[in-house]
This record gives sequence, structure tokens and C-alpha cells, in this order.
Amino acid sequence: MEILIHPNPVLKDTAVPVDPAHDPDLRGLVKRMAEAMYAHDGVGLAAPQVGIQKRVIVFDVDDALYAVCNPVITERSAQTVVDDEGCLSVPGITVPVERSVSIVCEGLSVDGKRVVLEASDLMARVIQHESDHLDGVLILDRLSPEDRKVAIRAYNEALSA
Ligand SMILES: [Zn+2]
Repeated sequence: MEILIHPNPVLKDTAVPVDPAHDPDLRGLVKRMAEAMYAHDGVGLAAPQVGIQKRVIVFDVDDALYAVCNPVITERSAQTVVDDEGCLSVPGITVPVERSVSIVCEGLSVDGKRVVLEASDLMARVIQHESDHLDGVLILDRLSPEDRKVAIRAYNEALSA
């Protein structure tokens, strides 16, 4: 699967919820997304990044593959941390993004079972990053206007290199 990159307008759209019980394509979609993620050495991927406007994310943390449909972050720690983040849709750069240290994420498995993930550190960061994609939010949108300008310049240089 081709991964769309900024400034593709599809990345700015809001994805729609899925119904695992009535979506026969879901399992195949998750499989192809995981393959694309691993092929690009990513730790996470959201369906809009492959042009599918469905609320589905996959990620791999500590050698375990997770797929969550309709993920909702129901709790966020007040404590945050700033760390460098990359994105397969913004290749070539990393930017410092502030995220909650720990979160609770609720959603559905591809089988339609309820999933509750208590995540911290890297997993919490990845879930927050991938959930952002479902609302059309990129790491560039998490920066101050000044930092964003610098990041876009670096991104355009990386693309033309
Ligand atoms: Zn991303």
C-alpha cells in the first residue's frame, strides 16, 4: 500500500467510525496496513495514511502488533513529556511533540470485541499520534507557528534531497 505524504489533502480529513460486524474488508485492511508499516520501519500507521478514511490504527510496541478500531482516548495524564516524533506521512524529519505520559484508550478489535489499553511512554505516544491522524491532525499541526515554519522548511529540503 502506498503511504500518502504531506501535503496530500486526504491526510487532513476526519475518518469515519467502522462497524467490525459489518465490514468484511476490515481484517484485510489491518493486514495490509501492518505490512505497509513494517515495510517502512514504522511503529504505527493509521488508515487515512493509506487513503482509507476509516477510524482504524495499527501499531507495534515491544514486538506486539495491535490493531484498534474506533480508538478513543478516555483518560490522559496531566503529566506530559516532549520528545522527538517522526511520521511516515512526513518523512525525513522529526519534531518535538508534547504528549501525555500515560493514557487509557478504548476501542474495538477487528472481531468487534471491546478493547481497553492502559498505555504509557512509547505506547501512549504512538496511540496519541495515530489517533490524531483519524482527525486529520499531523505532527506539524502540534507545533507553534514558528516551529512549524522551521519544520516545513526542513521537510521540503528533505523531500528535494
Ligand atoms: Zn503519523
